[in-house]
Amino acid sequence: METTVLTIIAVVTGLLGLSGLAACGPGQRLLRERLRRSHIALMPEGWPESAEAFRPLSPGVVAWGDDPVFFGDDQERMRQRVEQLRSIGVELIASNVFMLTATSRELRQHPELREAVCVDVAGEPIIPSWQMDSFQEGMPNYWGCTNNPAFRQQVRERVTQGVSAGANMLHLDDHMGSHASILDGGGCFCEHCMAGFRQWLRGRYGEEELAEKGIGDIASFDYRQMVREAGFDTREAFRKGAGRRTAPRRAAPLAGDFIAYQREAAVDFVRELGELAAEVAGKPVPVGVNAWNLEPIQLADSHQADYFANEVQQLEEGGKVPPLVYKLAEALGKPVFATGTGENWSFVSERGAVTLVRRWIATAHALGQHFMYSHNKWCWSKEKGTHWYTTPIETYLPVCRFIAQNAELFDEYEAVAQVGVLYSDRACYERHWEVRDACWGLLNANIPFGIAVAGGDWLRHELTEAELSAFEVLVVPEPAMLDGEQERLVSSWARRGKEHGSKVVKWESAGEGGGARAAQVASRVVSLVSLRSGDGVWVLPRKIPGRRGAPVVVHLLNQDYDADADAMREKRSITVGLGEGLFDGAEVAGVTYLTIDAEPKALPFRKERGSKERGGIEVTVPELDLWGILRVDVAG
Ligand SMILES: [Zn+2]
Repeated sequence: METTVLTIIAVVTGLLGLSGLAACGPGQRLLRERLRRSHIALMPEGWPESAEAFRPLSPGVVAWGDDPVFFGDDQERMRQRVEQLRSIGVELIASNVFMLTATSRELRQHPELREAVCVDVAGEPIIPSWQMDSFQEGMPNYWGCTNNPAFRQQVRERVTQGVSAGANMLHLDDHMGSHASILDGGGCFCEHCMAGFRQWLRGRYGEEELAEKGIGDIASFDYRQMVREAGFDTREAFRKGAGRRTAPRRAAPLAGDFIAYQREAAVDFVRELGELAAEVAGKPVPVGVNAWNLEPIQLADSHQADYFANEVQQLEEGGKVPPLVYKLAEALGKPVFATGTGENWSFVSERGAVTLVRRWIATAHALGQHFMYSHNKWCWSKEKGTHWYTTPIETYLPVCRFIAQNAELFDEYEAVAQVGVLYSDRACYERHWEVRDACWGLLNANIPFGIAVAGGDWLRHELTEAELSAFEVLVVPEPAMLDGEQERLVSSWARRGKEHGSKVVKWESAGEGGGARAAQVASRVVSLVSLRSGDGVWVLPRKIPGRRGAPVVVHLLNQDYDADADAMREKRSITVGLGEGLFDGAEVAGVTYLTIDAEPKALPFRKERGSKERGGIEVTVPELDLWGILRVDVAG
């Protein structure tokens, strides 16, 4: 009895904890007011003959829109596109800035922009590795240096043009600017970056510390010369020497400081662009970033971003990447509008895979996020380089119609989270992705969870006691690599729980299957959902925080995908148990099953005796193809 009461409290506080972890700025507030979870999102890369082509999807948001630079002198055409989107009912419309490059066309026309590109240690301009085939009339898409005033000015103009054309959100692609050129192209050593680094060092270290770093006179210090003299005199040598891991393993001199400087400069520029957009609009403008997989280096500016419209690896690592992305963003209180990577879409275009894409959409929405539709989708593969795929709208239609028809079962709903999974910025930066395995294991075991975020050099967030106490048990993927206050907090929390059985379960992936670890977690909590017959189905409960009497929603996602046939293996007679902790003491009045292209069906259910007066229920779902929803109505 006592345990059950504790469970109910944990669920409710868990719900509250999930929705507002990060400080909420004006752009984010506006997005929370106007964006609905049931909104279908567009990403218009390539444009159909008319925006009417999008209408069957009933889209509500363009999360990643057009970049004004591609309209050249014809900015009126961009304004017309925004109007067309409005005419089909889209209210939230982002313009995009592809911050990677000034674009080959502009580079041909403007000599000052050709001087404003990232250069390597040898002084050679850098072409991003994935843009090697994107030359126009002999001019490549050189990497623009976001520390160079000329390129910054062009980016600022693109922001101004987009907002002036009527966009009310701003999306930044390649938001980490010159910082990202370090790993891909061994940059940037231009005079502006060298001057900026000098100033950064001067602001951070005293004379003695500078001397210890081998800097005699900061006024005349030339980082490029230091790196060359240390033997890192080619692009490849510096790229390897700067590495991506922590300082002791970086061989190039001052690489850690240089990375920190470039990171902070990129973050400052994103802030500046967000402020500019709001100034031009005269009101808050939500800012989104393409934070690839939400990896740590992509999260450095996440405290300034209001949403993520991002490429997420859908197929790699057996599909373990998207769930962590969606749950981590949920913990940060920011929506995700996902797409696949260029390689993922290349795979889809080769196979004509329809069910696979529908799975991606269903997974994103069942986990409370969005998956974008693009009429003409960018694809990339080693063999073909850049190519395009015209996505048939029929691929999206049945799933998006299902979401729109049941909007009230998506809007305002938040995931129920019994268990917390610790996300460690430092561990993930060092490429310890055990957190993905832990999330995957809990999903397969149907243990509702959320993420407890421990920040670091990249993700600016300090884990708090309040966040931890939202969960009954904390799963700590190993190695956790915490230090300081966050490490003390997790350790003390583990000790305090000892009398009731430890509240911390360590998750080591090597050598042991996730099943055993998940069973260990399951033994520490009173089950809220369970799959009693059948297998290979995720059972995902969601509720509206603080609203008594609202139906409880349980998503059922079939995981049994036949890749060769691009089809789901249909499940029949799946029995699901829903624990009393889901219903806050209310009595279950009815269960309705909703699925794609079928009429809602009332299902019989069996009440179970609980430790309280009213217990949980057991219900059998006759068949499940891709995705179904149980709407559980409660009385009083
Ligand atoms: Zn530079």
